Amino acid sequence: MENSQHGDDPSQQRHTSGGHWLDLRFPTTGWVCRGIEDAGNEGRLCDVCQGVRIRFAHILSHPDVPQALSAGLGCAEKLVDDPFRAEKRERAFRDDLRIRNVWPRRDWKISRVGNPFINARGYNIAIWNKGGSGFGVTIRLQNKFDGEFVRNDPRLFKTVDDAKVGALEILMDVRKERRDIDV
Ligand SMILES: [Zn+2]
Repeated sequence: MENSQHGDDPSQQRHTSGGHWLDLRFPTTGWVCRGIEDAGNEGRLCDVCQGVRIRFAHILSHPDVPQALSAGLGCAEKLVDDPFRAEKRERAFRDDLRIRNVWPRRDWKISRVGNPFINARGYNIAIWNKGGSGFGVTIRLQNKFDGEFVRNDPRLFKTVDDAKVGALEILMDVRKERRDIDV
């Protein structure tokens, strides 16, 4: 990957018709996605076409194939039952990754009642001092038209900084629960 611009987004590359696509015994239906892995900047070779380095690996398993395969989106969407789901899954994964990457640099504001808060991805996330027992996190949808959603998360954190780190995991959990894809 000489060109770092392309290296940042290997998904732009075309998956080929080589590799397993040339194998007539290779099953082309019945694959299930077990999740997505970030292969980092180095990437890894798409196990299916074996012709493209991928950053985001869709981990696909099949009852008749002993090992799971790491597939890029181009190959994954041809193998799973619902190609749109593969795309949505990857988009959500990449979005989560971006949120994680910028989280430590995010600026928390202080509310009128003195609680640190942040608005992120349509959610308002606030940290509360639970009177000596620690700090809790409340997360609510900012836009009421999207439907009511409020969660007073039961997790307790020792310090405000711990709560800021924990709030990221709570946001990730809520995003996962509220999206209509399985992985
Ligand atoms: Zn491929």
